[in-house]
Amino acid sequence: MGKGMKIVLATGNADKVREIQNILKGCPVELVPLSEFPPLEVVEDSGTFFGNARKKAYEVSVHTGLPALADDSGLVVEALGGAPGIYSSRYAGAKASYEDNVRKLLFKMRLERHREAAFVCVSVLYFPGGEIFTSRGKLEGRISKEVSGGGGFGYDPVFYIAKKRKTLAELADDEKNAISHRGEAFRKMAGVIKKLALRDSLSAPESSSDAPENSGQ
Ligand code: IMP
Repeated sequence: MGKGMKIVLATGNADKVREIQNILKGCPVELVPLSEFPPLEVVEDSGTFFGNARKKAYEVSVHTGLPALADDSGLVVEALGGAPGIYSSRYAGAKASYEDNVRKLLFKMRLERHREAAFVCVSVLYFPGGEIFTSRGKLEGRISKEVSGGGGFGYDPVFYIAKKRKTLAELADDEKNAISHRGEAFRKMAGVIKKLALRDSLSAPESSSDAPENSGQ
């Protein structure tokens, strides 16, 4: 069997790429990095996780001529009225680093006792021609008072999971992916991709090398 359907990963964020590649291991898909194409800037201005993910998938698909798979994700903090939400990557400013964003979050939360929060991830798969699939994942936790752990990325060092008694940054990569918002969204998307691969193989011409009548010959 080949490597599967060719899909461009519509994100330039190396941390997301690493996690998505791990989560989709074993899925019949060949993930092509966006870095293999001329640069493209997608302005994330839709106002929702879904709208931004759809915009990224659509524009990257038009740009590359291939199906495109996007992730829009962020941290939703109840006591901050849902902030930073869709602005998670630029919470402390347009060029903010992960550390700048975490520092701002801890400052805003310094007097807050109500620390519930959630990570949200929306994934969109867009095919040239307009077919579109979406999935969603969520992880609930609490904002800790200080940073802890060196794994993961972004807000992981301050996202505390009570059941594990650890922040996300203290978990191994696989442990994070098993419970994370991104893990949930992309495992659901893997299910969609498997069904699409089956549909394609059923509608492929019978002379295809994967056709059962050729097996063993
Ligand atoms: P996006 O690239 O616009 O989707 O922004 C995603 C931002 O949300 C990242 O830059 C992080 O700040 C935050 N984020 C999303 N997923 C995670 C995660 O798994 N861990 C920590 N931070 C995350």
